[in-house]
Amino acid sequence: MSVKVAEEWLNACSGCEISIVDLGERLLQVLELVDFVHIPVLMDHKYYGQLGDGKHIDIPEADVGIITGSLRNAEHLEVALEMRKKCKIIIGLGTCATHGGIPALANSYHNDEILERYYSTETTDKPESLPGDGIPKLLDSCCALDEKIKVDVYLPGCPPHPDQVFNALVALLEGRPLEATGKSVCNDCPTVREGKGQMKQLRRFLQPPHYNAPDEPLNKMRCLLEQGLLCMGSVTRSGCGGDKSIPRCISARVPCRGCSGPVKQDGNQLLDMLNGLASNGIEISSLPESTSLLRFSGAHHLLRPKRKQKEA
Ligand code: SF4
Ligand code: SF4
Ligand code: SF4
Repeated sequence: MSVKVAEEWLNACSGCEISIVDLGERLLQVLELVDFVHIPVLMDHKYYGQLGDGKHIDIPEADVGIITGSLRNAEHLEVALEMRKKCKIIIGLGTCATHGGIPALANSYHNDEILERYYSTETTDKPESLPGDGIPKLLDSCCALDEKIKVDVYLPGCPPHPDQVFNALVALLEGRPLEATGKSVCNDCPTVREGKGQMKQLRRFLQPPHYNAPDEPLNKMRCLLEQGLLCMGSVTRSGCGGDKSIPRCISARVPCRGCSGPVKQDGNQLLDMLNGLASNGIEISSLPESTSLLRFSGAHHLLRPKRKQKEA
């Protein structure tokens, strides 16, 4: 008997859904074992049912529920609660779902400031009032899924590599537990490390790294952090390279920006990074782009003053 799967996107960019579709031919393998009963990116299932009352959402029951995106407004919360009610297992897919991700950058600002900025720009007239009818109310802050509902499986990544999605689905179908790697991006990185204390100061994030020739293998290039580039590999969960393992950004000689979130689900990526820099003798106040440490990392959720308690 096939396993019923429901999928939902909340405050998401759809990149995580692209990762599901990017399973390519393996999606056909998955479809032999899985029955997608609800997945808005692939099929048009009406929230309210064709004959529903138009007031209560109706997501079919499923064995597994995959949710991408963070929670930003009342509608996201309603859908997340309905998914939790209808699905036996909930997977948070992607860093927005597991940690708040890029949308949680909004937590640097109050909702009033965000709405003011959105509806009243330098090139528009100031509206008499902000539109409200039919628009879901913003939550007080942009939340990770587990701040509002129980999450059974965390699969961070922005987006997670299709190999990670496939391996997670297969493990679930085979009834195997899905363990976090417990390792950092550095663990999969082939660059040359000479050890702590080699770094004297940080260069601007966008400066190119030093290497001898475009075809020089990565295992001949010096670690980007030791070159003074702000690479967050040491505090970021491994796995973004999929089964090939080489971290995606590093394979393009670009520093890791931390998009897979902390190594441990409840880790503090920002503080760990600041500690790592300090232990290398880098004065935090001397960082050329100290705010980009937040902006370009999965640590955006740390902008929130305080994580809220689960409501359901
Ligand atoms: S985790 Fe990344 S790819 Fe997935 S929805 Fe969020 S921003 Fe998009
Ligand atoms: S800090 Fe970056 S470049 Fe250096 S080993 Fe870690 S991931 Fe690789
Ligand atoms: S190297 Fe870092 S920023 Fe790049 S994809 Fe991997 S985890 Fe994300």
